[in-house]
Amino acid sequence: MTMKLTIVYDNEAYNKELDADWGFSCLIEACGRRILFDTGASGPILLGNMKKLGIDPRSIDEVFISHSHFDHTGGLSSFLRANPKATTYVPASFRPPAAGNIVSVKEPGQLHPNLFSTGELGGIEQSLAVKVEGELVVIAGCSHPGIGNIMRAASQFGKVSALVGGFHSFSELRLLKELRLVCPCHCTQRKAEIRKAYPLSCVEGGAGKVIEVWPG
Ligand SMILES: [Zn+2]
Ligand SMILES: [Zn+2]
Repeated sequence: MTMKLTIVYDNEAYNKELDADWGFSCLIEACGRRILFDTGASGPILLGNMKKLGIDPRSIDEVFISHSHFDHTGGLSSFLRANPKATTYVPASFRPPAAGNIVSVKEPGQLHPNLFSTGELGGIEQSLAVKVEGELVVIAGCSHPGIGNIMRAASQFGKVSALVGGFHSFSELRLLKELRLVCPCHCTQRKAEIRKAYPLSCVEGGAGKVIEVWPG
C-alpha cells in the first residue's frame, strides 16, 4: 500500500500556476480513501487550486480539520457547499460554521483501519496519522501542541517515520532524527535550518507539491 499526498494550499507555491496564500490544506489518498486535511484560509483559493490540480471536491470522502484557526478552516464552508456529503472530523473545541456530517474528536483513536487521530492535544489541535507499510506518516496543521507531543501521541499507533505540515516555532531538531521523510511547510519558521540539518530526509513543500510514500 502506498500513500499520495498533494499540497493544495500553502504559504508558498511549488507549482507556480497555483495561488500561494497563508494557510494549509492537502489531499491525502490512502487506504482507498480521499481525505482533505484542512481547508486553507479562503474558499475561492482552495477551490481554485483544487480545480487547477484536477481534484473534484465531490470526489473527496472526508475532511479532517486540525484546529480552528482561520488559515485551516477558512475554506471549509465553501468546500462543504461544493460537497455537502463529506464527513468532517473536527477537534472537540472547534464549532464548525457549516452544518452537515460533523464528527467531533477529543480522544486519540482509529478513524478507519490504518487512519488515526492523535486526539485533541493541548485543547486545540489534532493531527492525522496514516499507517503505510507498517510505518506512520503524521500530518500536522500548525503543531501548536508541539512536535514532541504530537509524535508521542501518534506513537501509540506505531512507529512515526514521516512528518508533513506546519511546524510553527519548532526548534528541537533532534526530534526529527529518526524520520525517513520530513516536509516542513506552512508556518514553519525554521525551514532552512531543518533542511540543512536533514538534507536527505527533508523535502520541499508548497502548493502543488506531490509526495508519494514510500516510493520504490
Ligand atoms: Zn494555528
Ligand atoms: Zn496555520
